Amino acid sequence: MNRADHDYNFGSSRKRYEWQQGFEMGMAPRDPELEKDLFGEENHVHSGINFAKYDSIKVKVRGNNPPPAFDHFRNANLHPVMKENIQLARYEVPTPVQRHSITIVTAGRDLMACAQTGSGKTAAFLVPTCSSLFATAPQLVSRPANRYEARSFRAKPLVLIIAPTRELCTQIFDEARRFCYRSMLRPCAVYGGAGYRGQEIELEKGCDVLVAVPGRLMDFVEKGKIDLSHIKYLVLDEADRMLDMGFEPIIRELVERRGLNRNRQTLMYSATFPKDIRMLARDFLRPDYLFLQVGRVGGTTTDITQNVLWVEEAQKRERLKEVLLKQPPCRTLIFVDTKRSADSLDQFLFESNFPCTSIHGDRTQREREDALMAFRAGKCPILVATAVVARGIDVKNVMHVINYDMPPGMDEFIHRIGRTARVGNAGLATSFVNHNNMPILKDLTKVLQECKQQIPDFLQKYVTRGPL
Ligand code: AMP
Repeated sequence: MNRADHDYNFGSSRKRYEWQQGFEMGMAPRDPELEKDLFGEENHVHSGINFAKYDSIKVKVRGNNPPPAFDHFRNANLHPVMKENIQLARYEVPTPVQRHSITIVTAGRDLMACAQTGSGKTAAFLVPTCSSLFATAPQLVSRPANRYEARSFRAKPLVLIIAPTRELCTQIFDEARRFCYRSMLRPCAVYGGAGYRGQEIELEKGCDVLVAVPGRLMDFVEKGKIDLSHIKYLVLDEADRMLDMGFEPIIRELVERRGLNRNRQTLMYSATFPKDIRMLARDFLRPDYLFLQVGRVGGTTTDITQNVLWVEEAQKRERLKEVLLKQPPCRTLIFVDTKRSADSLDQFLFESNFPCTSIHGDRTQREREDALMAFRAGKCPILVATAVVARGIDVKNVMHVINYDMPPGMDEFIHRIGRTARVGNAGLATSFVNHNNMPILKDLTKVLQECKQQIPDFLQKYVTRGPL
């Protein structure tokens, strides 16, 4: 079945009748076939053994009158259908960012949230925004009256989620389909690199929850295919990336000069939030916004065992082979700096008989999707990648992240190693450092110290005595 077509492909008139009846009551009946497609087989466990540790993470909410967090999904102020969808997703306990974000969003407040990688931020914004629309959706959604009107139809999304990469965009879209199950809300995704007309056709059927990468979104807005004036919730995922120098002008243009509803709620999420970007972010938030901090801003989790090895450039390939041969076969993500090194390292590993593939920004969308799919499915359990998959990408059971080349700054380091140890699972990160990485060694040592990791001898001189 076409991914976004679940609310159009009824199969039989009987089913269509049941769905319409359901919608009139605000919810559609369950559909076992679609459920299997959306939520997968039963007993597929998401969260890891360290999930309970989340409770000990310090949470701070700054701002006036923050609403209290809830303790269990059943006590949350959510639509009953959303609660059932959460059960279908097999989320038993809310993560700290979910506990706070869901009540803050439900209370109508703007939010800037900073929480560790893999701690459930996607559901933290999808659940409350979609849930609050479930009851009102029948009055709010707009659809073309018929096929003929579709060509001139303008999609009027109610929720707009902006993400920096195509891969993250499709991942959030898949999650949106799950949480919109049985509701009238229709999610769509628009991102570059994939066929324009295919995405346009989806928009022409109506779109209530739009997940978008800025460039393609702007194209559709300029062509009059998307009207932003109905947006009730604007979400910036990986917000610090969305507001850095690369993306900020286009985000500002979209938010301030393209008719985006001013009377909206704005929500921002990331694992890292440099101070200057936090200041800039305030331009997009209402003055009474809340700042939610789970753990330290830019911190990572103690569930990741981190090894830092001194490896000269010329020895990196051989050292990498050693590391890979020493470990049991497991999903391993290797980060390099440039597209060229991704290609050549992939070739080298392939010639050394490792089951690998690679991904970077010069590949076609098809090649990028194929590489990620082969990695997810375990067909190629070793993926060589540039920063395109450093943020947000959620692949189950990535056991090892290798920084073959260190990133230029610690924020990217945090996002990269955050591809392992997701939702309380354990993980391993190995980083190769040498003289080229001197500028970040002090900050790297701080992260290791904070996460109670072993500090190699060559980093001892950077160890901070006393409180961090
Ligand atoms: P995210 O940080 O949103 O990318 O989520 C990381 C992973 O955690 C995804 O696979 C989610 O499906 C999963 N997840 C999110 N929230 C929960 C929860 N409360 N319980 C179990 N798994 C969760």
